Amino acid sequence: MMNTLLELSGVSVSFDGFKAINNLSFQIGEPELRAIIGPNGAGKTTFMDIITGKTRPDEGRVIWGEKSVSLLKLSESQIARAGIGRKFQKPTVFEAQTVRENLAMALKNERSPFSVLFYRKTKEGAEKIEALAEEIGLTDELTRVAGELSHGQKQWLEIGMLLAQDPRLLLVDEPAAGMTPAEREHTTDLLRRAAETRAVVVVEHDMEFVRRLDCRVTVLHEGSVLAEGSLEHVTANQDVIDVYLGR
Ligand code: ADP
Repeated sequence: MMNTLLELSGVSVSFDGFKAINNLSFQIGEPELRAIIGPNGAGKTTFMDIITGKTRPDEGRVIWGEKSVSLLKLSESQIARAGIGRKFQKPTVFEAQTVRENLAMALKNERSPFSVLFYRKTKEGAEKIEALAEEIGLTDELTRVAGELSHGQKQWLEIGMLLAQDPRLLLVDEPAAGMTPAEREHTTDLLRRAAETRAVVVVEHDMEFVRRLDCRVTVLHEGSVLAEGSLEHVTANQDVIDVYLGR
């Protein structure tokens, strides 16, 4: 049995009287890979905003880790430091810096102003960067300027920059959008590997991509969980079929 890392229970949030999240309960284990699907407006973005502390629920509990800390009591930066990383849809890397420099900046220990130099100039630092580059498949691109990378490579670099912080939970928003089939396949492998040692939540529209992830799927609809289980299980669910066909 894996341990529960994050648990939301009875969470609701309204915007101007409209319930974007409605009595939502959700659990993820550590390690675990989970896909979140659901039509536009289902509440997927708001769900991630609640976990990262950007949006505060009106009701419910958000409980983290073995000490059962309430994330509702932590600021956004405290939540990030507790081990929750978020990858937004668009890649945001330092375009003018090389892949190596981007990874060095992500690895640097914020307490030391010399640490970027540590990662760039010492053997131990270089080894850490190389291990990360290998993990994201950018070993051959270390000296390239990030701005010259393909869209897919930029996404992997940013995932690598998040992995550099060693999050216990990584939230990833539509990683496959705009990628070539080969890039999608690489992204699937990367996320599956990352989820061997941590919790990874992937919000994704592309069903083929979700199928390849081969993980438990949570279907959101009108701010609640409509169905949960294998992709096969949830896509056989009549409520899910009705929602997707727009009954
Ligand atoms: P998804 O990411 O699944 O498309 P969202 O979480 O973005 O869904 O939105 C859920 C619902 O809440 C939508 O109907 C959206 O219009 C509404 N909503 C989200 N954020 C706000 C906001 N800041 N103000 C008003 N309505 C919002």
